[in-house]
Amino acid sequence: MGGDVPLPALEIKQMGIARDTAQGLSIAARQLPGYPVALIVLANAIAGRADRILMDFSAQGAVLRYRIDGVWETLPPMDRPTADAALVVYKKILGLNPAERKAKQETKFATNFKDTDWVVSFMSAGVPNGERVLFSIDTKKPTLKTLADLGMRDPMAQSFKAMLNGNNGLVIISAPPTHGLPTLWRVALENADKFVRDFVSLESKPDADPEMINITQTFYEPDTAPPLSFFAKLLLKQPDVLVMPSLLDHDVAESVMDQVLKQDKHAITRMVATDSFDAIAKLFAMYPSQSKNIAKALTGVINQRLIRRLCEKCKQPYQPNPQLLQKLGIPPGRVQKLYNPTIPPPPEQRVDAKGNPIEIEICKRCNGRGYYGRMSIFELLTVDDTMRQAILKYGNNPDEMRKFAKQHNHLGFQEEGILACALGSTSLQEVQKMVSGK
Ligand SMILES: [Zn+2]
Repeated sequence: MGGDVPLPALEIKQMGIARDTAQGLSIAARQLPGYPVALIVLANAIAGRADRILMDFSAQGAVLRYRIDGVWETLPPMDRPTADAALVVYKKILGLNPAERKAKQETKFATNFKDTDWVVSFMSAGVPNGERVLFSIDTKKPTLKTLADLGMRDPMAQSFKAMLNGNNGLVIISAPPTHGLPTLWRVALENADKFVRDFVSLESKPDADPEMINITQTFYEPDTAPPLSFFAKLLLKQPDVLVMPSLLDHDVAESVMDQVLKQDKHAITRMVATDSFDAIAKLFAMYPSQSKNIAKALTGVINQRLIRRLCEKCKQPYQPNPQLLQKLGIPPGRVQKLYNPTIPPPPEQRVDAKGNPIEIEICKRCNGRGYYGRMSIFELLTVDDTMRQAILKYGNNPDEMRKFAKQHNHLGFQEEGILACALGSTSLQEVQKMVSGK
């Protein structure tokens, strides 16, 4: 790294401090020996579409990793002096203490690169073997706006919107950890019809969600008063739709169900859960005395898992044989082609029979990963009267609910994933990985 290559056109602007101070720190940092490497590490990450950079410092050296499309990739190792010098640059520009390598330090900075504004969270902390540094990279403006942007098929988007725009119901929005729940929550609420009905949310301080157009925010401050008193304040705003990132506690859960079942309100909440049935079972387990009311109020659950999209430039079509199609549950004649990613052999295997190196063309779009970007696969559970009976009966048992739903034509992640393969968006290998939870 470094050498004679021109420096990437990128500036690091500390966000939490006065502009003059930030400018002074920035100018001073440019004189430091680690400045070029510090910029190159960040520029290469953004150019390579990484959303996380991890630097692990140990006695042996420093390991640099980028997370691209949810997959961690390890870069060639860095020697300690080079990596240390780069880290000093960040800590100095960000107004942190470069000598502190144990206590946690964190802040945010802004940068502009590739015609886009970025916000980067920086965190460093001591770990048993040394120090760990994490950069989390986000675009300043959200790039995903509609349900279609997330990868939702139109018929499902219509059903989901009907759920969000329904009356006297409870809707759960869910996803497993690291599968984009905050984004799904934001996009779902942004696409709900908020013009004719009043949406009021109850956000926990200090982790409140960013403000959204046409949703009035109220705030819950933990440890100051019972959660129910904050919910009572929300009700004073006379909302039509209760936006509850959390049901907070038993009393609030009871009151929300009461509002839905007796007061004509609609409610939307969210859960970290592996699928729709897990979400229901978790809500039952959290508020056991309310389980009957939850089952009565529930009108729908959505769950999302992220999956890699095939690179459109190098994906390879193949004709699936009839046995495979049958195994996948695809009727004969429906799908002519499925696709595999193009993944070149590792460099040491790029040789002919005599051991001479051979040229293999690597796709410039995906850099030989075979995938480019991610999309969501959704499981949408519509709760009709039949399903409601099953939830009342098996609400604590996700396996029993899943079995019942499957017998009643509910499409799970496996089926939805295969649909995405049939549309050429992803590969069977990715669906396999997603379904097995890897
Ligand atoms: Zn490609």
